[in-house]
Amino acid sequence: MSEQKKVEGVYGAAGSHWVGDGFPVRTMFPSREVEDLSPFLMLDYAGPAHFKPSNRPRGVEQHPHKGFETVTIAYQGSVDHRDSGGNAGTIHPGDVQWMTAASGIVHEEMHGKQFTAEGGTFEVVQLWVNLPAAAKKSKPGYQGISSAQIPRVELGTGAYGRVIAGELNGVKGPAKTFTPVNVFDVRMEAGGRGELKLPAGQNSAIVLLRGDVVLNGSSPLKGEAQIARFSESGGSVLLEAKAESLLLVLSGEPIHEPVASYGPFVMNTEAELQQAFDDYRAGRMGHVG
Ligand code: MN
Repeated sequence: MSEQKKVEGVYGAAGSHWVGDGFPVRTMFPSREVEDLSPFLMLDYAGPAHFKPSNRPRGVEQHPHKGFETVTIAYQGSVDHRDSGGNAGTIHPGDVQWMTAASGIVHEEMHGKQFTAEGGTFEVVQLWVNLPAAAKKSKPGYQGISSAQIPRVELGTGAYGRVIAGELNGVKGPAKTFTPVNVFDVRMEAGGRGELKLPAGQNSAIVLLRGDVVLNGSSPLKGEAQIARFSESGGSVLLEAKAESLLLVLSGEPIHEPVASYGPFVMNTEAELQQAFDDYRAGRMGHVG
């Protein structure tokens, strides 16, 4: 077994708010404690929340993004997406949408039509991944990744990881990324135990969506919406689940470039940020539909 990563701290959500009328989110970072986890910029955990059947679409009407990627992971319920690049799709439980906003995109994110009509429990994560300066200028992109495309890796007993991006125990995930990024959806049974191998020299964290897990034999991660941040050194984390648990593992090579961000735009300088607002207002990022 390789040297364990040190648990630097375990923290709760930074706050909660509604995104549009469809996403009651808890922001896991950035927070006072987890301010810089480059290349990861932000993680919002929506739900789990119950929605009654409705005939009125709920979600976020069209809005822009520029300079980074949005990664949407559906656990329960579904999300309908349409963007200015002409892409459209429904993200079902187990699916992931990896959208590259890059030079600028406008999209809408609504609850899936069937989910809206039937109602039920909604549980979705949205992660923002930064892009290096050169890639912020590239064309927007869209990867709709179905559940069946995401390989599963056993981590021990009663513990497995779904490799969304990067590599886990030699198994590569389907998402194409601009910099080295690992995103794993880890599921554990009560009593499950596994070893997670992560690269040294990267920023890494584990988000517990819900459950009860002990990290490295001594650090508890329990309840809902908790995040553990690790040292850059070391290459493994021991996971022991006391209850059924749902974890999202993030690890990535930091991008050592200045960040100028405001709302939906993440650039390198204030001038670029101003340009992004001007481009959006002038309609140069396009529109949906
Ligand atoms: Mn958005």
